[in-house]
Amino acid sequence: LRARLIKSEKLSIVSELAASVAHEVRNPLTVVRGFIQLIGTDRKNMDPKNEEYIALVLSELDRAQEIITDYLNLAKQQYFEKNKLSLSTLLEEVVKIMTSYANLKNVHFRNSIAPDLYVHGDSSRLKQVFLNLLKNAVEAVSESDGEVKITAYSSHDFIRIKIKDNGVGMTAEQLARIGEPYFTLKEKGTGLGLTVTFSIVEQHEGTLRYQSEPGAGTSATVSLPIYKQTDPPLPAP
Ligand code: ADP
Ligand code: MG
Repeated sequence: LRARLIKSEKLSIVSELAASVAHEVRNPLTVVRGFIQLIGTDRKNMDPKNEEYIALVLSELDRAQEIITDYLNLAKQQYFEKNKLSLSTLLEEVVKIMTSYANLKNVHFRNSIAPDLYVHGDSSRLKQVFLNLLKNAVEAVSESDGEVKITAYSSHDFIRIKIKDNGVGMTAEQLARIGEPYFTLKEKGTGLGLTVTFSIVEQHEGTLRYQSEPGAGTSATVSLPIYKQTDPPLPAP
């Protein structure tokens, strides 16, 4: 436990530092992106090679933004503001946000979200949880027959949200390492998405469990306590 505490303390110092750097770097990047885009609009006399380079620069700038966002999220995990909130609405919103990303990759979403599922939680942090899980699911499936199924329902005192994909899956060794900071098998991954996700779920007294098999796909199940009348509207100071 002591080793774990030291590890998490170290992580929080590193992430605070990374976040302040990330925050500072974001502005110049935005400016650069704007000017590159402006150059790109003057297509008339442009060498097709340059057009290609501009597209490449823009996509790499977007990737830099994504990495920055992952680091900023890592640092934000300490701050919570819990309220009564409709998880059903939140999930519908997240699915809507992710649908354009899924369409881009030709991935099909199927969802079955029960109405009136309430939790006591921080809405922007919980949104982050489901964005990360859906993003991983979309990234795991193939573009020809990719499918992601989202189900949410209540069971006893818990709400269960299951995100199931028919993607590459994971070996037992890989499964054992997910959530470890910087563990990634992706060429362009940060390995921070699930670190943040596990931590947010824990802060909500919930659990995140995985089932996966190589080639057969993955399912991630989040369980969160159902909102109780006795839950305080705001967190204790
Ligand atoms: P990143 O997405 O930046 O790699 P994450 O923390 O989100 O970082 O995920 C860590 C690793 O866990 C991924 O690189 C991937 O190998 C594995 N993983 C996560 N979700 C899935 C999934 N649905 N299917 C297969 N592998 C997954
Ligand atoms: Mg990820």
